[in-house]
Amino acid sequence: MNEQELSINVDLHCHSIMSDGVLSPAEVAARAHANGVQLWALTDHDILSGLDEASTAARALGMGFVTGVEISVTWANQTVHIVGLDIDPQDAQLQDGLAYIRTGRLVRARLMADKLGSMGISDSYEGALPYAANPNLISRTHFARFLVAQGHCKSMKEVFQKYLGDGKPANVPVQWATLDQAVSWIIGAGGHAVIAHPGRYDYTPMEFDALFERFKELGGVGIEVVTGSHAPHQYAEYAGVARRYGFLASSGSDFHSPDESRLDLGALPALPSGLTPIWELF
Ligand code: AMP
Ligand code: MN
Ligand code: MN
Ligand code: MN
Repeated sequence: MNEQELSINVDLHCHSIMSDGVLSPAEVAARAHANGVQLWALTDHDILSGLDEASTAARALGMGFVTGVEISVTWANQTVHIVGLDIDPQDAQLQDGLAYIRTGRLVRARLMADKLGSMGISDSYEGALPYAANPNLISRTHFARFLVAQGHCKSMKEVFQKYLGDGKPANVPVQWATLDQAVSWIIGAGGHAVIAHPGRYDYTPMEFDALFERFKELGGVGIEVVTGSHAPHQYAEYAGVARRYGFLASSGSDFHSPDESRLDLGALPALPSGLTPIWELF
């Protein structure tokens, strides 16, 4: 690999208004391009509807584009996110699987609003709904934006710490897809499965090992090493995991909004050395 390939600006994880981002797919494309991104993937949560617009916008800008999705999974009683890259958006099994896991969100939103109501925060369902372009994709992020806008919390981070984070009083756990389902939908659609932001999960070392081994057995190939959802000290930690388990390394900002994300589109440091970048597959 030559010098130029090593220094390519890649961002393979971000969100648009189709899930819990705030910009349209074309606006995300324009921001990525303006920030120097050369190879870009849009990875909305549990939905493929932004990919056409993203692909058209990327092509017009002369920016490399990879299709993507971030699938919500429940594994060992916790939520894990699995990114699928280079998937066929027309694949019926993937589309049906995503439609099936989206069905739980409206009910869960009402239950979260009930819990917030009993803690003195009223009408949060009605308040969060306008933040979601697609009501079937209503997420904790939309509730968090409403709570911050209403002055109940100073930041999104505070909302998750006080109310909506896993195990917090207004959180309502959901049974998302199984790991087996998510990986098989991605592979069935011709794509590559990647464990998103492993540093965010609260597993024991044994559980982490079981997750990585099972993911490999199922045909998963990648892990995010550099992501806006990791603190910088975690880059080296998950570089070690990638080397030990033989995973390809991925890199993505997890950009949602100009006001919220720790790392902007295209503002990612290079991968630690000694890793094989997943974009060698594309
Ligand atoms: P949901 O899919 O409804 O469970 O919402 C999960 C989304 O909430 C993630 O995709 C993040 O965008 C956001 N999120 C989760 N934890 C946090 C946190 N601690 N701070 C800010 N946003 C978070
Ligand atoms: Mn999100
Ligand atoms: Mn995620
Ligand atoms: Mn994400």
